[in-house]
Amino acid sequence: MSVEESNQCDPGSSGRAELKIHRRAMLLVATTPILVPFACSRTDGTADPAAGDPPVAASPVRAEVPDLRPFPPSIEPLVRIKVANTARRTVELGRVGQRLWITQPGSESAGRAVRGPVRIVRDDEGWSVRWSQGGRGSSARFVGAGPLAIADGDAQAQGIDFEGRRLRGTIRIVSIRNTAGEPELDLVCTLPMEQYLPGVLEKELFASWRPATFEAQAVAARSFAVCERAFWLRRRHYDMVAGQASQAWSGGAASRRSRDAVQATAGRVLLWRGQVVPAYYSAACGGRPANAIEAISANQVNRIAPLTVDGGTARRRCGCTTDSPHADWRISVGEDAMVEALRAYGRRVSNQALASIRGPVEVTVRRRNAAERPIDFEVRGSGDPIPVVLPAGRVRSVVADAGGRRSWKDGPRSACLELTGADRGYRIEGRGFGHGVGLCQYGAESMARGGASNLEILARYYPGATVGVAWESAAPPQAAFS
Ligand SMILES: [Zn+2]
Repeated sequence: MSVEESNQCDPGSSGRAELKIHRRAMLLVATTPILVPFACSRTDGTADPAAGDPPVAASPVRAEVPDLRPFPPSIEPLVRIKVANTARRTVELGRVGQRLWITQPGSESAGRAVRGPVRIVRDDEGWSVRWSQGGRGSSARFVGAGPLAIADGDAQAQGIDFEGRRLRGTIRIVSIRNTAGEPELDLVCTLPMEQYLPGVLEKELFASWRPATFEAQAVAARSFAVCERAFWLRRRHYDMVAGQASQAWSGGAASRRSRDAVQATAGRVLLWRGQVVPAYYSAACGGRPANAIEAISANQVNRIAPLTVDGGTARRRCGCTTDSPHADWRISVGEDAMVEALRAYGRRVSNQALASIRGPVEVTVRRRNAAERPIDFEVRGSGDPIPVVLPAGRVRSVVADAGGRRSWKDGPRSACLELTGADRGYRIEGRGFGHGVGLCQYGAESMARGGASNLEILARYYPGATVGVAWESAAPPQAAFS
């Protein structure tokens, strides 16, 4: 299928009523290989304009900008998940008696079959591996800078134990240097997408939630992972982190509900104009969803209809506004703490106006999106003629800093917030939990309880997107080992 042909699968433009979108949601079966351009989308969500930068314009979808989102892969991809990073030079892996197969990919070294647990030590010349066999100590040596790969050698691959977790897939230990030039080790699991996803659902959703919620989440998580992999494949040694920076991951252990949802949606990804949608999701949108271009990053891949909020009222009635503990919340921070947090941020980004700001400080919403969620704020210190403009996400993190990085219950749960002056401080009122882009997990569960299918849920939270089958699952996910 050529690019032009695949673009003909475009279901149309944004702005349809959600029910119409759902009826037109279609399944596209990829029967021929599809061109997969690598290194195309940046979706790690770390971009954040520094203080004083021109704010990102909330402009509508622009068709003339090249769309660098990936095309759906025609075969199930492997994904690389960073599960740990350590400043130690030693890693211990495996259960007592477990068969492990150790290799150094790309080197001349022969692989070694060993018995767990193994103790692996990195030094300047390479890797030392020690284990116990028949009561006697054994060791092997792998020379060179390349990573060491440890595979589960048991017939019933159960995963490899590491610090109380059981990790699925092949584990690579990669020797890196941190930004200060100090040596560290990264642990990266590599495994097929469909085996990875159950462990995502396991951590992202409550066990009691409905199957349709799990299925919608499976399609979103798969689509997000496809985009991350496409971007990072040739840029770094992992695609995603197991955690909030990407997607939570249990390491592989998953309930039947998680595994069933992945199997029921195997290979299905969200598409818009024939290319995969980086399907962001968060816990609760608070009825005021965010645009990806403002809340995730200014990358053009985020300027697409399914990730853009329109002025309709559908999301204001999102179930999370009635059926979640995050519908609205209130916290307070002291004025001195807020001023110091603003100054500290100003010093970090070399913004003189912020670094020397004096209280009392006014923090007011400057612009809102079509759903009335704040996009950015004006921060005006005592005696300052010109306010500093900060994106809403930055204001959220400054408020979190001012609160001493307390638990999520006591901190700002989202950037959908407003500050009002109170006695020597601020009262902060907010809605929702998380960045508010794309699928709202509490809202999805509310729909599922009302009988909605996974397609209806996806159509509501990614308006204009369709669901297509990118690859047929080679085999059902392996049995649980929870
Ligand atoms: Zn919501």
